[in-house]
Amino acid sequence: MIITEVFFGVKCNRCQEICKDDEHAYWSDEDSAIEIAHESGWAEIKGKHYCIECHEINKDSGEIEVYEEFPEVLKTLNKFIDRICFGLDRRVFENERTFKVKFHLYKTPILKGFEHEFIKQLLGENLISIQYPEGKFATNKCEIEFSKPSK
Ligand SMILES: [Zn+2]
Repeated sequence: MIITEVFFGVKCNRCQEICKDDEHAYWSDEDSAIEIAHESGWAEIKGKHYCIECHEINKDSGEIEVYEEFPEVLKTLNKFIDRICFGLDRRVFENERTFKVKFHLYKTPILKGFEHEFIKQLLGENLISIQYPEGKFATNKCEIEFSKPSK
């Protein structure tokens, strides 16, 4: 017998990260999913959710301030990593001048030729590096760093 079950999770409206506790990313009801997100420091504004990397609380007013939306090029890169490269555990790290996207490759130890080429073309002169850092475990890590595009 086949049955269908519905699970609930919370995804960041800015970086698309899915909220996880130590073991789970999905819950059997909406309230539990939202509760875990709140316990993990996520913010909610008008039904949208933001992870800790994507907002801060204004010290004076106590209001939630969501960081500026990701540039289109980063959204495209993220989609490419998720859907074409099958990147796992993708996370975006941001500082004043650069973005760094870290993820794990599935199956292959490094990006395939056309994937590497697409990313080079997409980021153009903003690309700083595509690296495969060695870790303690053979986990096929990949890190792409690029300068924030000028407006
Ligand atoms: Zn986020």
